[in-house]
Amino acid sequence: MKKKYEKPVITRIETGFMNKFGSSPYYSRRIRKEIDGVPVEELVEKYGSPLFVISERRLRENYRRIYNAFATRYPNVQFGWSYKTNYLKTVCAILHQEGAWAEVVSGFEYEKARNLGIPGDKIIFNGPYKTYDVLKRAVEEGAHINIDHMDELVDLEKIAEELGRTIKVAIRLNMDTGIYPHWDRFGFNLESGQAHDAVKRMVWGGKLKLAGLHAHIGTFILEPDAYARAVEKMVQFGYEMEDTYGFKMEYIDIGGGFPSHIKLKGTYLPPDVAIPSIEEYAEKITSALYRNLRPGDFPKLILESGRAIVDEAEFLITTVIASKRLADGKKAYIVDAGVNLLFTAFWYKFNVEIDREVKGMNELSAIYGPLCMNIDILDDGIMLPPLERGTRLIFFPVGAYNNTQWMQFIEYRPNVVIVTEEGEVHLVREKEDLAYIEEKERLPEKFKLE
Ligand SMILES: *Cc1c(COP(=O)(O)O)cnc(C)c1O
Repeated sequence: MKKKYEKPVITRIETGFMNKFGSSPYYSRRIRKEIDGVPVEELVEKYGSPLFVISERRLRENYRRIYNAFATRYPNVQFGWSYKTNYLKTVCAILHQEGAWAEVVSGFEYEKARNLGIPGDKIIFNGPYKTYDVLKRAVEEGAHINIDHMDELVDLEKIAEELGRTIKVAIRLNMDTGIYPHWDRFGFNLESGQAHDAVKRMVWGGKLKLAGLHAHIGTFILEPDAYARAVEKMVQFGYEMEDTYGFKMEYIDIGGGFPSHIKLKGTYLPPDVAIPSIEEYAEKITSALYRNLRPGDFPKLILESGRAIVDEAEFLITTVIASKRLADGKKAYIVDAGVNLLFTAFWYKFNVEIDREVKGMNELSAIYGPLCMNIDILDDGIMLPPLERGTRLIFFPVGAYNNTQWMQFIEYRPNVVIVTEEGEVHLVREKEDLAYIEEKERLPEKFKLE
């Protein structure tokens, strides 16, 4: 095939330079020809591009590693799978098989968990918006409800009255843990006395029993000590409530927020240096428990880790559709997936692998998605060798928040497959088509075209 003519550009050769952390990752693009033993080309031939590929092996391994980090250090541990991080049925089902409960933050997610067969008493119900009807259903089905605000507390008192019984509940706390900006819009503030006031109101009403405490201090928290501070404050507050009002804390739920292994935009250090291991978090958290709990007291420790469990269990295969030169001479590639599918592109500097060996000098390049939108950028400073049309670029990790926050904007959402531990490939979400997208639309008679 005759090569397309391209106007020559001059770029400084920077290949191979070292910095003080070793050789820069930008200069060594890795080749990936398979995912868990299944050739990338075979996957694309059968299921198209772009294509999300989940690895069952990685998902189970990640879960077990994180679960064991806590279960080997503390005797009473329960994980709740954060549905909003990835609520594909297959992902949820695998994590439920591993023993996780469901952690949901809306009526929709609550229905999803029940529909998958999860009983109410294995559902943790969080979030600032729980309608009266869903809340009532959750109470009747024995869900663990973490109250977000005073109006919800009042709703629960009404529900208790309707059902003619008292209800066990927990409250969500927010507090200063040294992580800024401080998330104070969820739950009751600890330092200002708001949380204590909520408990007083419960006592006064006589219908709700405080049985647990919840906190979720943020996401991608790089500071294990922040969790230790949260645990210390929660346990101390719990004992204060037990001693003052006679409640018994059955669980301490410390939420999620552990990072996955990826470089964030605007950070200098590579993930190997910047991101503490899960064992460091577990050590800090359980040590804080032992320092503050009374001897022989082991309330259930609930964790709602999302990103750290699923992010590194999923890949996105994309295809180079075209290349061009920008006005300043910079090389740019257009691929068939953009921020419509990769919401986390706004924060992540993804690992990008190529499906074949490519000859030629690395050059500073940009990778754009297919959208007619200026913000549709997957990477704007990546060293890439000259890529031909049809080359596959594999983005990683993509398991957290993309299959839930993706948007249907000018493109259909593509197939999602899983590679099982046995090396089989199964479709877990079929690519969309026009009939699916238009199913809920109605065109009133008046506007019908001849
Ligand atoms: C989003 C969320 C999680 C999961 O957070 P990650 O940062 O993905 O671990 C856990 N609990 C609550 C209440 C959440 O809103």
